[in-house]
Amino acid sequence: MTTAPSVVVIGAGVLGLSTALELINRGSTDVHVIERSHPGEGSSGRSVGMVETQYFRADDIEARVYGRRFYDRLAADHGLGFVSCGYLRLGSTAADIDTFEDSLKIQRDFGVVDARVMTADDIAGTWPQLVTSDRIGGLYGASDGYIDGYEYCTLAARMITAAGARISTKTELLGADVDANGRWRLATSKGFVEADVVVNAAGAWGARVGERLGAPIALHPQLHGAITVDLRSPMDPLLPFVMDYVPDSGTDGVYFRSERVDQLIAGLHTDEGVHEPVSPDVSLRRVGDADVERVLTLMAERLHIVDDLTISGSWQGIYPMSPDHRPIVGRHPDQPTVICALGAGGSGIQLAPSIGVVAADAVLDADPIFTWSPTWAPDRVIVGTPAHPSA
Ligand SMILES: Cc1cc2nc3c(=O)[nH]c(=O)nc-3n(C[C@H](O)[C@H](O)[C@H](O)COP(=O)(O)OP(=O)(O)OC[C@H]3O[C@@H](n4cnc5c(N)ncnc54)[C@H](O)[C@@H]3O)c2cc1C
Repeated sequence: MTTAPSVVVIGAGVLGLSTALELINRGSTDVHVIERSHPGEGSSGRSVGMVETQYFRADDIEARVYGRRFYDRLAADHGLGFVSCGYLRLGSTAADIDTFEDSLKIQRDFGVVDARVMTADDIAGTWPQLVTSDRIGGLYGASDGYIDGYEYCTLAARMITAAGARISTKTELLGADVDANGRWRLATSKGFVEADVVVNAAGAWGARVGERLGAPIALHPQLHGAITVDLRSPMDPLLPFVMDYVPDSGTDGVYFRSERVDQLIAGLHTDEGVHEPVSPDVSLRRVGDADVERVLTLMAERLHIVDDLTISGSWQGIYPMSPDHRPIVGRHPDQPTVICALGAGGSGIQLAPSIGVVAADAVLDADPIFTWSPTWAPDRVIVGTPAHPSA
């Protein structure tokens, strides 16, 4: 293709919209997003929106630093809400602290200067509500914070349509054919749409959309929830986002942060396959009693104020997890004109801007901006191929 290809993006969650925005910013004029429901109605509107860089591998950190800066720009230039609450990842062993120190060095290389390692005493002195006697310290990103995933989707959709691209809502991809000239003819619930390149950004439904495109992909969607916890007395100081889970620890852990002086948001997080995969069509309800109980038990171990807590609400959503828990982004090996933007798991909000860049590189056949981006290549998770461990 010598001119920019015409592109249809399937799915108006954070990944599809970030890919469409990136294409438009690079000069693509023929971009059409089709969405079965409305922008942000999938996982993206059900997240707790943390955007932070407290990871360990250079690629994980670089991708998230890019995301932080992207959202900072949207906050400054387009009024996106970004609440800089801080992010504290707790550690329990000396090895955790070594890993945190290594992370700091990498973060500094990428220009993050306000992250620091805190001792358990520093943490207890700063947030006396936290129990730290069984923790050795933490990795703290002072300016990390959260956005509202639904607000970002709405803003991105407005920017995309203002740039002259199309978003068709209530439009489901049902089937697809390639014509004799290699162009896609996509059957949707509202008629046919044509394109040179299709981006599969259908979130937890990515495997189903992959089948319809003849571009199979394995996904292991996980059901996750968040709960709001009301406090009888106002909390001072407010808590940052506290994550009591260390990546690659083989388990999940509790997280919580202040939402208001008298309310916390809490849940269970993992970047790993420790929750059973679910159907993307699982009915989303309030968080089940067993998970609420587990969150409260883990919070009781971490907070001095546990008697004052009342559950006031909860919701569920899906982590669109890949089999090896890393994003699936790039050209599909069986269908080179299908680009995947999938598998962001519990980090899709913070990774969406980088995933948009990598997916746009693939659409435009451009040299990769991130040198490590081939580690996200879909060939490792096509159906029938065993997932290999993270690179
Ligand atoms: C409780 C919870 C907390 C979370 N907290 C965080 C957090 O703090 N930080 C973070 O970074 N991430 C977080 N996440 C993860 C994040 O929400 C997801 O990784 C991200 O939203 C995935 O975005 P997506 O665009 O891939 O999927 P989605 O937002 O689900 O978008 C996919 C879209 O595709 C559409 N679609 C599907 N099939 C079709 C079809 N056939 N035709 C047309 N359209 C179709 C769907 O309707 C949907 O709108 C959280 C998730 C949950 C559930």
